[in-house]
Amino acid sequence: MHKPLKKLSEELRSGTISSVELTKYYLEEINKRNGELNAFVNFGKETEKNALEMAKHADSIIKNGEGNELTGIPLGLKDVFCEKGMETTACSNILKGFKPPYEGTIVARLRKMGAVFIGHTNTDEFTMGASTETSCYGTTHNPHDLKRTSGGSSGGSAAGVAAGLCAWALGTDTGGSIRQPAAYCGVTGLKVTYGRTSRYGVMSMASSLDTIGCLTQTPEDAAIVLKHIAGHDEMDGTTPKVDVPDYSTLLGTKDLKGIRIGLPKEYLGMGLKDGVRKNFEHSIEQARQMGAEIKEISLPMTEHGLAVYYIICPSEVSANMARYDGLRFGPTSDAKNLVESYFEARTKGFGDEVKRRIMIGTYALSAGYYDAYYRKAQRVRTLTLREFDQAFKEFDVLLTPTTPHVAFECGSLSDPVQMYLEDVMTLPASIAGIPAISVPNGKIDGMPTGLQIMGPHFGEGQILKVAQALS
Ligand code: GLN
Repeated sequence: MHKPLKKLSEELRSGTISSVELTKYYLEEINKRNGELNAFVNFGKETEKNALEMAKHADSIIKNGEGNELTGIPLGLKDVFCEKGMETTACSNILKGFKPPYEGTIVARLRKMGAVFIGHTNTDEFTMGASTETSCYGTTHNPHDLKRTSGGSSGGSAAGVAAGLCAWALGTDTGGSIRQPAAYCGVTGLKVTYGRTSRYGVMSMASSLDTIGCLTQTPEDAAIVLKHIAGHDEMDGTTPKVDVPDYSTLLGTKDLKGIRIGLPKEYLGMGLKDGVRKNFEHSIEQARQMGAEIKEISLPMTEHGLAVYYIICPSEVSANMARYDGLRFGPTSDAKNLVESYFEARTKGFGDEVKRRIMIGTYALSAGYYDAYYRKAQRVRTLTLREFDQAFKEFDVLLTPTTPHVAFECGSLSDPVQMYLEDVMTLPASIAGIPAISVPNGKIDGMPTGLQIMGPHFGEGQILKVAQALS
């Protein structure tokens, strides 16, 4: 029954299936397979009841001929999307037991459309990581090989879609958290232009980099989702009033005639594994045969991506994590005074990676170091942005592999810097705030690899078009 949401939506409309049937099917799949995958967290009777009520409501919307393509379709919510009344924790001990009293714009919009929330998906703690191993609920395993990670931080969403536990899932991408797990699990992952989708009601990691996107079975599905979740929101001042086109109508033909594709050569020197290079070259050849004009380009700022990101991101993390002081959210304590209660909550509540980033970020922002680190990183960020702007005068899209290798084994990256290097190919797009998508690009020994397509600001239409043609 697990099919692209476009197909499922047609079947719901024609009456071949009902949303209740579809929801029961996915709930059963989760019950059967989540034990070994750990893609969903906090899954239980309450989640199932909630999903079935939403499905019943969706069926009545469809019966009245109302709703849209997302009505009645079960999706997973990464555990950073506040869902009213349902435990939402960012997979951190500090938020255990937290039931949001409200929900954010995108979740509320989806609810109104009659989408079905089938459960919360696993993530690295507050989305800091590239393997879901920093989650307080443990690692999500890769459906293609359970010994390997699903990638991260949206590993639960990627594995959930890949294993057929939900039709699609919401994710967040700050430095690669949608694209890298999508590549590792063999699904489509769309990271949007910064500000294309509202962040209101989504737990923040690094506010100038965070974006809300989706993990789907096909680029066509991503186009459908984006049409319904994108756009200006009064509650998020970083969402400009840029029109939301019907992205689906921009897709369609497998023709890339006249599309100018740039191949940034710096990415191909990033320790690519042979098989990844081969699969990438195969896609380039395919694009050429479809009529694309392909040329190499040099983007020298690429090599600074990692350094820039790991100053800006922890700096913003250190500010964003300050609100978790143990008083307003999370478990109660019997500390004797305020300072003791802060200590207790933050010592017990946060994991190592979160603490590491708070320390690095606080250091980088402190008087005396601000100019040397934070301001300098912001300057290099501007240069990166200009370099991309320049490149998009000459090219419609830029193509690179999404990651240098396939999913790694659980527990094999114990050095934090090695883990940071996981996102070496996805960070530049995040720094520049441009959209990028990862689509499946063949396998190596049974493990999926990904193709990354980057476009100019608000150029989601063109990256989706190229993504669909090449997948
Ligand atoms: N792996 C990167 C990090 O840990 C990116 C995470 C993300 O995009 N949320 O910061």
